[in-house]
Amino acid sequence: MPFATLGLPPPLLNGVKAMGYTDPTPIQLRAIPVVLAGGDLIGSAQTGTGKTAAFALPVLARLGAHQPRGPRVLVLEPTRELAAQVETAFRDFGRFTDIRATVVHGGVGYGRQRSEIQAGTDIVIATPGRLMDFLKEGTLRLDALKILVLDEVDRMLDMGFVKDVKTIIGRCPRERQTLFFSATVPPEIEAVASFALRNPARIEIGVARTVNQSVTHAIYPVSPQKKFDLLLALLERTDFQSCLVFSRTKHGADKIARKLKQANHSVAVLHANRSQSQRVEALEGFKSGRYEVMVATDIAARGIDVAGVSHVINYDVPANPEDYVHRIGRTGRAQAVGDAFTLATPEQAGDIKAIERFIGQRVPQLKLEGFDYHAPPSIGAANPPRYQDPRRIQQQPRARAHGGHRSPASPSAAQAPAPRPAPAAAPPPTGAPSEAPRRFGGLMRGFWRRRG
Ligand code: AMP
Repeated sequence: MPFATLGLPPPLLNGVKAMGYTDPTPIQLRAIPVVLAGGDLIGSAQTGTGKTAAFALPVLARLGAHQPRGPRVLVLEPTRELAAQVETAFRDFGRFTDIRATVVHGGVGYGRQRSEIQAGTDIVIATPGRLMDFLKEGTLRLDALKILVLDEVDRMLDMGFVKDVKTIIGRCPRERQTLFFSATVPPEIEAVASFALRNPARIEIGVARTVNQSVTHAIYPVSPQKKFDLLLALLERTDFQSCLVFSRTKHGADKIARKLKQANHSVAVLHANRSQSQRVEALEGFKSGRYEVMVATDIAARGIDVAGVSHVINYDVPANPEDYVHRIGRTGRAQAVGDAFTLATPEQAGDIKAIERFIGQRVPQLKLEGFDYHAPPSIGAANPPRYQDPRRIQQQPRARAHGGHRSPASPSAAQAPAPRPAPAAAPPPTGAPSEAPRRFGGLMRGFWRRRG
């Protein structure tokens, strides 16, 4: 069904067209009519499903045109990056309207945000902390508010914003439309929803526990000492477009990034201890292709939309099974395909089991052929690891030059449910372009460990 049938006005249909969208995604199909009709909504959808347009388009439609009397829409986001991304989406979709959107978040000066608010904006997209500052100083008033959007609520509560979120909801007029999005809606989130919404429609798209179907994923068991070498090996053997590497800790992310740089990778780092300008620079550089790898903590796992992330590597198994789904959701977004590898040490077998229980499927465990699992760790990443052919490093331009076809390490059986037979030689990955098996056939031969 095309967008034109959803009841959106022509300027927004032109905005959608300019974005290159042809058909609405399932959540857009279901949420847009509800929001246009003025109803409250609880949406639980995986990231990458088109959730932003599902609320931004009908919200813009309800606003019509710019009015100078203060914001009529408030969107709360858990992180600065998400707030900036959602603001961009509002501007993109609303490019043929005169509606104004302003982003409000910490880590940058107050001046520009204050003057945009004072000049009269229709939509404020904010993180809770900075929004509270503007409310306290009286720069921002919410009297004219008509629509409140609470996005990524589970993340917002995880990050300790529950008190601020409740205060902000309390400052909004009681007569309003409220849209509530959360990957999962456990009882504590249901409690916030019941306090914020009235007779909401409920839309569940996909099951939040499922991993994106377009992503092929695998676990690479490895000793803690050989983890970094295996990461390097995977990067060397994989033709990736851009690769997001997740670390559990900020310190760990810095360390991985430092070592990757020593091994001549172009690397960005994104975590909460970095300054706002560093965070912006990292994300922009990664999006534009200046950095082929971005090392990040889970701050980047939620909602951040980077077109063309072909690979996600979990250097550390995520602490919460839910984060596995979110991390993996960074690749394979909007119909694209992607690969997700998780490096797991033997002590993390329990965490892996928890992830498998959570997503309801086994993740294949693979061994990277040709990688010497028993060699002592390379001393300093500047030394080429033992498995590498230095000629290949010299001859081959870095990943992007390859156009990012599927990884050699694509686990062929990744989509297949357990129990899995251990293949004698890896057949071509499902949907993988033909050159992958030709170049790398046999690399992925066999599973390292078979489980009953
Ligand atoms: P989101 O879940 O809102 O972060 O969106 C994920 C990605 O899907 C973004 O890159 C969007 O631009 C893209 N997207 C959203 N809706 C559509 C659509 N109807 N057709 C194609 N791409 C879309």
